[in-house]
Amino acid sequence: MPNPLPPDTVAVLGGGVLGLSTAVQLLRGGADVLLVTEAAVGSGASGRSLSWLNAGGGYGEDYYRLRMAGIDRYRTLLARNPGIDWLAFDGGLYWDDDPFTVLERHNQQTRQGYEALMVERGDVQGVVPGVDPGALPHRVLVNPGEGWVSLPHLVRHLAEEFTLRGGTLIEHAGRCTVTREDDGTDGGVRARGLRTAGGEEYAADAVVVACGAGTPAVLAEAGVDLPDASDPAMLVISEPVEHGLQAVLNTPRISLRPHPGGRLAMDSTWYLDRVTRNGDGSWSVDPDVPAELAAEASRVLAGHPEVVPQGWLPGLKPVPGDGEPVLGELAAMPGCWTAFTHSGATLGLIAGELVASEILLGRRHPLLEPFRAERFGFGWDS
Ligand SMILES: Cc1cc2nc3c(=O)[nH]c(=O)nc-3n(C[C@H](O)[C@H](O)[C@H](O)COP(=O)(O)OP(=O)(O)OC[C@H]3O[C@@H](n4cnc5c(N)ncnc54)[C@H](O)[C@@H]3O)c2cc1C
Repeated sequence: MPNPLPPDTVAVLGGGVLGLSTAVQLLRGGADVLLVTEAAVGSGASGRSLSWLNAGGGYGEDYYRLRMAGIDRYRTLLARNPGIDWLAFDGGLYWDDDPFTVLERHNQQTRQGYEALMVERGDVQGVVPGVDPGALPHRVLVNPGEGWVSLPHLVRHLAEEFTLRGGTLIEHAGRCTVTREDDGTDGGVRARGLRTAGGEEYAADAVVVACGAGTPAVLAEAGVDLPDASDPAMLVISEPVEHGLQAVLNTPRISLRPHPGGRLAMDSTWYLDRVTRNGDGSWSVDPDVPAELAAEASRVLAGHPEVVPQGWLPGLKPVPGDGEPVLGELAAMPGCWTAFTHSGATLGLIAGELVASEILLGRRHPLLEPFRAERFGFGWDS
């Protein structure tokens, strides 16, 4: 699907990390960019993400390579902005109740060239400060190359560049839709622009749909059915606490990382049957859950500091139907690109860069080939 001419105007729908990073890359490449989003920027999953930057989950080679490229872009961002307190590469620490699961993870990571160390409990403090050895099993897995980012900070950082480069931002536009037009072939359509909930229409040469968990609904309205496995999730942020933790911890009952302002960010899955979505779209949370999660944080941290939950943020985590990213132009609707992934923190910068490069250059990027929507079996004939 090569584009004969680079587009002048691109409309990006969705003000999360993927929409903003794509929009900034498009501006850097010389396009005029309009970014339209339902509420405030960063108010979706990017406002409530643990954002562990990693590639060690036993992924296939294509996904592994993409995630490593994602980490690479964050390292560059950090090198260019030394001293920021919202992005760090101080490693990851992983354990599971089943020691064989940990060993298998280590072996898989080592096969892929991912830095992975099995560390004895007694040696952990020298490698990963801030953790209580008494909370650990006999051996744990350390991944020195992993990191974390605070996405609300990254989104603000990208939004500043977006404004400085002359992008047009429309927030609080409500649930928008993609508009289409006849592409001149028998029954074929292509994307023509966006329509806001209030009915304003914006024409564009290319459209990017980066609506997080809202992406399948936006595409369904435009006639493209994308399998969706988006799921409830909840992040808890603590009050400031002296904790000494630098790495990201992934353990059976908590994932935990430092957060700017001396806080901790944490999540897990064991409480998700106590986090429910109401018919009107609001969320109800069992009020004991944040305190129970904070108590688990205290249990695994050295010195057992009192961890007090300050805020908890329930909502949907975007997940494509088969768990892998959906990136690139839609064969079923030329002129419309999508960026929809559950690993949107790790992929935030690289996905935006590659999607923007396809739009600007009119050439499909080989790294995105395995992640096209058409793998779900539609759209090639449209
Ligand atoms: C608790 C939790 C933990 C996570 N942990 C990790 C992790 O450790 N590592 C990792 O890599 N990723 C992690 N993720 C996933 C990652 O945070 C997301 O993949 C990423 O933030 C998604 O960004 P996005 O821009 O696609 O979507 P969002 O941030 O959701 O942004 C989409 C925006 O589009 C807007 N929108 C939706 N529909 C419409 C519409 N019709 N019209 C206009 N606007 C619309 C929404 O309001 C929203 O602002 C986690 C997510 C959660 C929730």
